[in-house]
Amino acid sequence: MNPVRPRTALVTGANRGIGLETCRQLDRAGLDVVLGARDLTRGTAAAKALSGARTRAVELDVTDADSVRRCAQRLTSDGVEVDVLVNNAGIYPTTGFFSLDEKTLREALDVHLMGAFHLCQAFVPAMVRRGFGRVVNVSSGGGALTDSVPSPAAYGISKAALNALTLVVAAAVPDTVKVNAVCPGWVRTDMGGSAAPTSVEDGADTVAWLARLPDSGPTGGFFRNRRRIDW
Ligand code: NAP
Repeated sequence: MNPVRPRTALVTGANRGIGLETCRQLDRAGLDVVLGARDLTRGTAAAKALSGARTRAVELDVTDADSVRRCAQRLTSDGVEVDVLVNNAGIYPTTGFFSLDEKTLREALDVHLMGAFHLCQAFVPAMVRRGFGRVVNVSSGGGALTDSVPSPAAYGISKAALNALTLVVAAAVPDTVKVNAVCPGWVRTDMGGSAAPTSVEDGADTVAWLARLPDSGPTGGFFRNRRRIDW
């Protein structure tokens, strides 16, 4: 008899905010969790503070392809197979279009687009080979081309690019690997600020739901509050 191992989730940018809460919810749901943090000391402290014993921290700067490669190698050498990838790491440059400089736009694209790109290339092929995978790209209504609420330029452009990547990866994999994007709402975190109406628990809920989709679940969609929204 083959013992069934728990699924393993890797969450990027998870030492605080929605990423950390996603780790908490997945840990509680019985998954093994790898908490990615660009500062390992802060990541380790965050992992320890979670009540469950299923979470470990790993150093991971999503803008650095070598860091992604080292993380993948480390997990492989430790025998960890990533079944669920949550591309959550994010920054929020507030510059409007007319004062936007190239460096700021590149930084946003590096985190939101290139980060998710490197992570998908590192982990999705093995999901396809094993016949199971879940990818959750934490996007934003600010990246929706149909959204009437304007968002800061570099943020909106880079989240729209992440949405495009979501569709491209979803189309490239079999249905056993579900690839979706999520807008967590306006959430009370360091990024969202204290005036945001959504708790971090509710903000992470749809992220964790997409991470645990059943085999009959959707792929290639964009969700908020567990409901499909327009791209
Ligand atoms: P947050 O509290 O500011 O946390 C952002 C996290 O991303 C931190 O852990 C940060 O690490 C990490 N990060 C940034 N750059 C990174 C990099 N290069 N490599 C690895 N980690 C990196 O933000 P949040 O509110 O939890 O946001 C999480 C996600 O939700 C983001 O993608 C954001 O765009 C999205 N979102 C948030 C809201 C909202 O209202 N809060 C709304 C829509 C979408 P450090 O601690 O090292 O800086």
